Amino acid sequence: MTVWLLGDQLSPDAAPLATADHVLMIEAHAFADRLPYHPAKLTVVFSAMRHCRDALRERGYEVTYVEAETFGDGLDEYFAAVPGDSLVLMDPPSHGAAARFEAMVEVRGGSLTVVENDRFLTTPETFDAWAGDRTVDDGFRQERWYRFVRRELDVLMDGDDPEGGEWNYDDQNRDTPPPEWSPPPVPTFEPDAITREVHEFVTERYDDHWGNPSLDAVVWPVTRAEAQSALDHFVSARLPEFGDYQDAMVDGEWALCHSLLSSSLNLGLLHPREAVDSAVKAYESGDAPLNSVEGFVRQVVGWREFMRHVYRRAMPAMGEVNQLDQERELPPLYWDGETDMTCLSEAVSHVDERGYAHHIERLMVLSNFALIYGVDPHELNRWFHLGFVDAYHWVTTPNVVGMGSFATDVLSSKPYASSGNYINRMSDFCAGCEYTVSRTTGEGACPFNALYWDFLRENEEALRGTGRMGLMYSHVDKKDDEEWEAIRERAREVREKAREGEL
Ligand SMILES: Cc1cc2nc3c(=O)[nH]c(=O)nc-3n(C[C@H](O)[C@H](O)[C@H](O)COP(=O)(O)OP(=O)(O)OC[C@H]3O[C@@H](n4cnc5c(N)ncnc54)[C@H](O)[C@@H]3O)c2cc1C
Ligand code: SF4
Repeated sequence: MTVWLLGDQLSPDAAPLATADHVLMIEAHAFADRLPYHPAKLTVVFSAMRHCRDALRERGYEVTYVEAETFGDGLDEYFAAVPGDSLVLMDPPSHGAAARFEAMVEVRGGSLTVVENDRFLTTPETFDAWAGDRTVDDGFRQERWYRFVRRELDVLMDGDDPEGGEWNYDDQNRDTPPPEWSPPPVPTFEPDAITREVHEFVTERYDDHWGNPSLDAVVWPVTRAEAQSALDHFVSARLPEFGDYQDAMVDGEWALCHSLLSSSLNLGLLHPREAVDSAVKAYESGDAPLNSVEGFVRQVVGWREFMRHVYRRAMPAMGEVNQLDQERELPPLYWDGETDMTCLSEAVSHVDERGYAHHIERLMVLSNFALIYGVDPHELNRWFHLGFVDAYHWVTTPNVVGMGSFATDVLSSKPYASSGNYINRMSDFCAGCEYTVSRTTGEGACPFNALYWDFLRENEEALRGTGRMGLMYSHVDKKDDEEWEAIRERAREVREKAREGEL
């Protein structure tokens, strides 16, 4: 039996391989011409594929590894050598991919059996049974799903109750580190000959792509052993403080206590169960506190699985939704990082440097600004998609289009929109910024402030009635005409400056 292993299923332990003797892998290059993907991302994907090929061969599998322009070309080459072969494929999470691959194989005289993708903790059937009669129109709520999965998988449970008595220690995830704090070290992985060769190919072929083209940007695991060591390092060095500083941002610090495991999980190098089990073990042995371990578990079994299923249920509509009718172009600062706004300049430079920014920079800086500025959510989605090392359509789209842009209310009942106050509370960015966070209007006022109020006003019809926006609109109602005039003027000025690259 031949297993066709895709570039985001890179585990020699993947279930279908247990009964296979032959593996097909296709390294397709032309897809990467479609968007100017970060060179670190392309290097990591192709290098991880080649390392997985070698690991499979060492285990005794016969591996056909085709380098081709497209999957179609790769399949042509494969079926010319092995006519009529039957392939087994783990169900790819991105919308429509399985059906497309099935048709491509059949037209070349082969057959394709699509089986469960074992790189996740929950199956589509489990989610659909949990959702019952709820549809995309009703929306899905992560907290309810999270509790259900904790019970189903028996993670951090004390009998029928959650460990420690609470399901969620979110209120203990909001500290900011004191000024003398320095973050724990980040693991490093020396690029080997394969990674160097791939990097040379990537930077020559895709020489006009966005993002730092240096090999220094490739700080991400490319083998299963590296991914396992990244997990061990996280659990011993950074997990203990992960909970406290999960929502914090610090000038000059890109990683803080985050796990940096998303690229490994999304490539299939690491199974989410391993990540969860390691974190829970650290709690059980007294090496990490509950607010950290629960916080991490919530991200992996709660959010990651939830996003996969909501995406599956909400596509293809999610690829086009735009409930707030936002249509502005992404301002140039997302491409060149040129801005006096410390928060945005930091976050964009982190993405540029290594294809990564942590969750709060993604949500409360990069997508928050785009949301209140009025950027077309699908343009923002493309930017995230090409810029991040962990970006795949199934996970980037619900995060950017749903969570970040509120272009649909399928996964949250209110937008993640905030003024500069939130950033000031959760970071040390504002103290050294050219803009004044305590001011909303006039020259030098923090751009987030006027945009935030203007956004609430512009979208009043859509937002006033939605759950949990009442408090915000009570502040809107208190502002008089004169204040609104100044806010509008400042918001107009901020948008114009951003458009012209002068913010
Ligand atoms: C606008 C926006 C875009 C995002 N784009 C992506 C993306 O392209 N790919 C991606 O994997 N994640 C994405 N996320 C989710 C999250 O920000 C990243 O998974 C996380 O920052 C990765 O860094 P980490 O591994 O250090 O995560 P940690 O903070 O250490 O969290 C642990 C793990 O939890 C999982 N996780 C946490 N939150 C989410 C979430 N909302 N959705 C899915 N998984 C989650 C990830 O696998 C992550 O590795 C996005 C979030 C936002 C708000
Ligand atoms: S003052 Fe405003 S623009 Fe400057 S760092 Fe703070 S939130 Fe960002």
